[in-house]
Amino acid sequence: MIVVIDGPAGSGKSSTARAVAHELNIQYLDSGALYRAVTYLFLESEQSLPKFFESLYSVQLTFKFDNEFHVSLNGEVITEAIRDPKISLHVSGIAAMTKVREFINAIMKKAVQHGLYIADGRDLGTAVFPNAKCKFFMTADLETRAKRRRQELDSKGIQVSYSEVVAEIKRRDQIDSTREEDPLKQADDAILVDSSAFSFDEQVQYIVKKIKESIILE
Ligand code: C5P
Repeated sequence: MIVVIDGPAGSGKSSTARAVAHELNIQYLDSGALYRAVTYLFLESEQSLPKFFESLYSVQLTFKFDNEFHVSLNGEVITEAIRDPKISLHVSGIAAMTKVREFINAIMKKAVQHGLYIADGRDLGTAVFPNAKCKFFMTADLETRAKRRRQELDSKGIQVSYSEVVAEIKRRDQIDSTREEDPLKQADDAILVDSSAFSFDEQVQYIVKKIKESIILE
């Protein structure tokens, strides 16, 4: 079974999905982290697209969830490294490429074949898992999202000004929602959650309740 939460950057979907996974004792899949991991590979390839695509097809991209969503490339743990602002700067451009999306989608579809998962991303409910058991679309106003993003970076010791965070979020939203391939958008059957209107706990409990209801109705 798969439950998905899509939404723009800083909407709170990753922290919410992680908390829901803990509460329901299910697996968490952070699709944004996988796009960040291949962006790390792109930067490692000295930003040369031919080199990048050559390494993409032979790379070992692995992940596991235990409190954190850990990502490794060829055995190197890059969980922290993928949060670097340099990755955030390039990730939406890399994620807009068809070959990259096919690569990540295949990994995700294979991973969720066994067990129960909650996954977050941009296009999971519309393109990757259109038959997901339960779909959410999480959003929040730009100010709330930017404050959250800045706090998250701050907690990792990364200093970025508020205006830089706003600019980064706006830029990524623009690329993510206007790209040709599977743009960010709410699935028709997704439940809309405005996280600026809820406390974190309320939001988690609301989603847990909706998931439990959908399982009972099955
Ligand atoms: O969720 P996070 O902000 O870490 O995602 C990083 C980027 O990965 C997004 O801005 C988007 O460009 C891309 N992404 C995507 N499709 C997904 C998840 C993330 O294109 N399902």
